[in-house]
Parts: sequence; C-alpha cells; structure tokens
Amino acid sequence: LRAGRPARQMPFGPDSLTRVILVSSGKGGVGKSTVTANLAVALARQGLRVGLVDADVHGFSIPGLLGIAPGTQPTRIDDLMLPPVAHDVKTVSIGMFLRDGEAVVAWRGPMLHRTVQQFLTDVFFGDLDVLLIDMPPGTGDIAISIGQILPHAEVLVVTTPQPAAADVAIRSGLVARQTGQRVIGVIENMAAFALPDGTLLDLFGEGGGAAVARALSADGDEVPLLASIPLSPALRRGGDQGIPVVLGEPDDIAARAIVDVAERI
Ligand code: ADP
Repeated sequence: LRAGRPARQMPFGPDSLTRVILVSSGKGGVGKSTVTANLAVALARQGLRVGLVDADVHGFSIPGLLGIAPGTQPTRIDDLMLPPVAHDVKTVSIGMFLRDGEAVVAWRGPMLHRTVQQFLTDVFFGDLDVLLIDMPPGTGDIAISIGQILPHAEVLVVTTPQPAAADVAIRSGLVARQTGQRVIGVIENMAAFALPDGTLLDLFGEGGGAAVARALSADGDEVPLLASIPLSPALRRGGDQGIPVVLGEPDDIAARAIVDVAERI
C-alpha cells in the first residue's frame, strides 16, 4: 500500500451495483470469520461474483479458512493489485499487506482508516455482485471508518446463544445503524447440537440470537434471526483444513444452515 498520491475512485460507493455486506460481532471467538468464509463460498456456489475483504485486524483468519497458503499476496500489475481467488471467492486480507513481523494491532485509528480505504480502492476486484467484509469484533476504529466509507453497506450480526455475547452484539448492531447502515439479519452460531443419543447439548445456552434480533428490530423494520447454526465438528474441521464445510461436507447441519442464509439474504 502506498501513501502520498491522489486516491483513485473507490469502486464500492453508493452508486455501485455491488451489494456490500459487513459481518460484525460484539466480541471475538463467536465464529464470525468461519461463518463469513462459508457464506462467501455458498454465495459463489449460487453463481454470484463474490469478493471477501478480511478487515479483522486482530484475527485475519480468512486466508487460512479458505486454504490460501501463508505468504500469498495479491498479484501486482502496475499500481493495481489482483486478489487471490480461493473456491471462486476473490479474497484480500489485511494480513497480506503487513511486512514481516509488523503488528497491525499497534496501528492508530487514522492509519487503519487509510489502510481500509486503500484496500477498497487499490485492490481490483472487477465487477462483483456481493462484497463481504469480515469486520473486527466490537465497535472500534475500523467499524467506524467502514461506516463512513460505505454508509450504504448492509450488516449481518453474528452472536452465540450466550447472553453476554448477545449484549455486546446488540451494541455493535446499534453502532452500525448510527452510521446509516441497515442490519439485515442476525446469525446465531454455536447453538445446541444433538449428541448421538439425541440429547441436545447447549454449551453456550440459548436465546442469544433471538434476543439480538428483537433488540435491533425497530418499528416497521424487523431484523430477522436468519439461522441458528449448531456447534459442529465438521464446520470447525473445514476451517482448519481450508476447505469450507459448505463445499467439503455439505450435508452437515451447520453447512445447510449457512447455505440457507446465502439463499435468503
Ligand atoms: P471469530 O471470527 O468470531 O473470532 P472464528 O470464526 O475464528 O471466530 O471461530 C473461533 C473458533 O471456533 C474457531 O476455531 C472455529 O473453528 C470454531 N467454530 C466456529 N463456529 C463453530 C461451530 N459452529 N462449531 C464448532 N466450532 C466452531
């Protein structure tokens, strides 16, 4: 990324035909990146042209989830960068722009803002139907920057069933709305899963997804709970192997829940 030259037009502004969908959560570890990677692949499987930006500066786990080898960088042609393509999804991660050993978590707000802006401007995605952005958890600098750069973006909020996760997820949804973005749905992840004998194991309790959807619904603007994705060894395994479960084990319940979201949004 280069500083000190005039900015090119950002291709995902309000006039663009690309739907921009931010995937947010109140806190880390709720499976936001795992869900985002699978959703991107599921949308691509429908024949849509899909881009995915990993803006989770503290995690940047998207390349691994999609099986992109460590160290892979966008291809440079003059001053344009072409994103790597994995499972038909054009993908860039903030981690691809770090010099060895550089820790982005130490960057200040203005630096992050400039980086995100350049990310969206200098990476050549071509025409896209959907651009997904894996947001950092919470309501920090990046969330506010992206809110300013892409005020027409739509937002999906991911939470676990646990009340503590739901409370912070509600806050991140409200901040998105303050910057003019529309929350289009809530995805509950890590919900109860059925043991072989049929018993339901609700490790993280229940009700968080419904509570977030309720809290973010305003008069006349209902925010739906789009899915309750159970805990799933297959979903976790797919992430570890870089083969998203929607491709590798599409009959898994978690995979089916994510494909269903891709069909409904
Ligand atoms: P976040 O992006 O919210 O920090 P991740 O997507 O990195 O969360 O997920 C955190 C961990 O939980 C990962 O190890 C992932 O494989 C695992 N995980 C996510 N969702 C599920 C699920 N439904 N069932 C089992 N493991 C999951």
